[in-house]
Amino acid sequence: MRAAMYYSNRDVRLEEIKTPVIGAGEMLLQIFASSICGSDTMEWYRIKRAPLVLGHEIAGRVAATGAGVTGFKKGDRVVATHHVPCFSCRYCKRGHETVCDTLLGGTHFDPGGFCEYVRLPAINVERGTWLLPDEVSYEAGTFVEPLGCVIRGQRTAAVRAGDSVLVLGSGIAGLLHIKLALANNAGMVVATDVSDERLALASRFGAHHGIAAASDVAAEFRKLNSGRGADVVIVCAAAEAVLQQAQQAVGRGGVILLFAPAPAGTVMPLQVNDVFWRRDVSMTTSYAASPADCVEALELIKSGRVRVDDMITHRLGLAETGRGFALVAEGATSLKVIIKPQE
Ligand SMILES: [Zn+2]
Ligand SMILES: [Zn+2]
Repeated sequence: MRAAMYYSNRDVRLEEIKTPVIGAGEMLLQIFASSICGSDTMEWYRIKRAPLVLGHEIAGRVAATGAGVTGFKKGDRVVATHHVPCFSCRYCKRGHETVCDTLLGGTHFDPGGFCEYVRLPAINVERGTWLLPDEVSYEAGTFVEPLGCVIRGQRTAAVRAGDSVLVLGSGIAGLLHIKLALANNAGMVVATDVSDERLALASRFGAHHGIAAASDVAAEFRKLNSGRGADVVIVCAAAEAVLQQAQQAVGRGGVILLFAPAPAGTVMPLQVNDVFWRRDVSMTTSYAASPADCVEALELIKSGRVRVDDMITHRLGLAETGRGFALVAEGATSLKVIIKPQE
């Protein structure tokens, strides 16, 4: 079968590799849509394992089922997530399924989504694969995992009706946070970015105001919010300057959610007295999505409560995966880039 082999962000080659063979409990999935995640282009993180086939936001049709698979049959349209928890360790039992060793073990697809067929291991078939409702396209299905991550983040930050929400960074994650905050009945939602195009997208997707990242974000936000800081600050671009903005902009009783990974070695100085003491400010983090988060994401997409099709800017055949990586890595002219491995 054909596969897009990742060597680096500027070097993705179409290669011929063996179609995976499935065993008991496993499934072979014919991939119809595979989305490039921002994390796929985190070169410092990916290049250690290169060359490899990336792709963890996938949807497709069941091509074959192994012995003992009862929940799915050949021809079913499904979405699958790459990593699933064990549900039995101490972290899982305490509700932290996404820091479980089994989940953190990394991608369990064989190989990854940027190829024609993927083998889903039994544990993924059992815990991380869902039928796509007729009204959800393969392309929309690829948003289940990224939206699931955003749902988990906002649950962790306990976004409540009427909350003022400040989203720092309007890339795909930030934009999904804007959409979900609105679906969660947040009050005023404000976005920042270094790019005017991204700020325009933030407003198109429902943000009430946009603030240029280079300005005094905290002061601008307070002007818009009756002098108060934000109830929830969501950090979707973890540069050191942005981490400082988060602390300056959070309001009394507010919460800072660290959602994006930071460049390696980033440290965050805390303004203990000015920000935290006597202000009931808390800070939290969230990583990945549990199966329950993905189920919730699928329902929000199906019902149209969170629209995702309007975020797709590029649909490319498998041979164009390299161009897709360049588009996502560079970021200015693309939002969601979807690879269609059967084309
Ligand atoms: Zn992802
Ligand atoms: Zn576990």
